[in-house]
Amino acid sequence: MSAKQNGVPLLDVNRDNAPHREEFIDALTEVLDSGRFLFGPDVAELECELAGYCQVPNVVGCASGSDALLLALMALGIGAGDEVIVPSFTFFASVSCITRLGATPVFADILPGTFNVDPESVASLITEKTKAIIPVHLFGQCAQIDRICQIAGEHDIPVVEDAAQAIGAAYHSRPAGSWGTIGCFSFYPTKNLGGMGDGGMMTTNDAGIADRLRLIAGHGMRPRYYHQVIGINSRLDTFQAAVLRVKLRHLGDAIESRAAIADRYDRLLKDHGLVGGAELTLPQRDKHAFHVWNQYALRIGGGRRDEMRSFLAERNIGSEIYYPVPMHEQECFANTPFRHNGLAETERASKEVLNLPIFPSLTEMEQVRVVEAIGSFYSKAARAAA
Ligand SMILES: *Cc1c(COP(=O)(O)O)cnc(C)c1O
Repeated sequence: MSAKQNGVPLLDVNRDNAPHREEFIDALTEVLDSGRFLFGPDVAELECELAGYCQVPNVVGCASGSDALLLALMALGIGAGDEVIVPSFTFFASVSCITRLGATPVFADILPGTFNVDPESVASLITEKTKAIIPVHLFGQCAQIDRICQIAGEHDIPVVEDAAQAIGAAYHSRPAGSWGTIGCFSFYPTKNLGGMGDGGMMTTNDAGIADRLRLIAGHGMRPRYYHQVIGINSRLDTFQAAVLRVKLRHLGDAIESRAAIADRYDRLLKDHGLVGGAELTLPQRDKHAFHVWNQYALRIGGGRRDEMRSFLAERNIGSEIYYPVPMHEQECFANTPFRHNGLAETERASKEVLNLPIFPSLTEMEQVRVVEAIGSFYSKAARAAA
């Protein structure tokens, strides 16, 4: 067999979608025939279904996860002179929503085991200027959101959960997005509930905030051509909503498959004797969290992460680095004021993290190939050292 046939993709969207092809075509045809490409019935139906799924009374669709975060901070009135606490070890959009509004990001460090934001780091950064806290539920596992909400509550600071990677996740059995003032979700195709294009949503327990989010997402216009506030245009379109309703029906199964894949990686890596030393660390599971495994994130120590990634790439085995450059080191923020009090774990994670292929239709054979390749990386190194 050629190397290509032995390869393993990081993600195969077509393979995941293939079993539901007929359902997608039926749903999309209905939208096409309705001619209602915006504000079609699927949008309201999806919002209603997701409210049930996330156990929140209010869901507002929007154009992307990035917009969800921006709209959330706009609805909270964040602006110049305000500080917002956020991890630096995250995707750009968790931070750009802050700087776009002229507010100052304040970067909290992460916990080394889960890569999630450290609540005590958050607590140490609070000042009278702190106007919001954005915990990120990274890789599909909730941050310690109970503790974060407690800290925020003591200071009366709103919490905006960046749950872009964590739909269906929970902490102490309570869903991601139902803990904070506002929850922000993404339907980007690689997310656990991925559309066929861009999309996002916001969740909130507060009907007044939901109304404000809707107003701001619709040009701040109410009634038509009367603009109460300077809003933006951010809508979830009907085609995406129709696709997402199909996908939502299968989301429970998809999460089960991802969890089984994560368990199998753990077992295979242990069986290969690859775990225990300082070289490779399995993703840590918080016992209070229901993890939905958007990513399976290893830590590769000894300064060999990039070498490992190249070794896998030569064998056509996909891997990715989420994230190679923390936000406080990004070029685009070089002239932006921000603050932190030490980000040692963030910087170490950016040099050690390596994400393996994980998607619902990934096969056991493919996982075996991934783990065997990792094993041969270390045995080759052992031979070279001997
Ligand atoms: C994907 C993602 C976003 C942004 O979502 P988009 O829909 O791509 O705009 C925000 N935060 C995190 C942590 C993400 O992973």
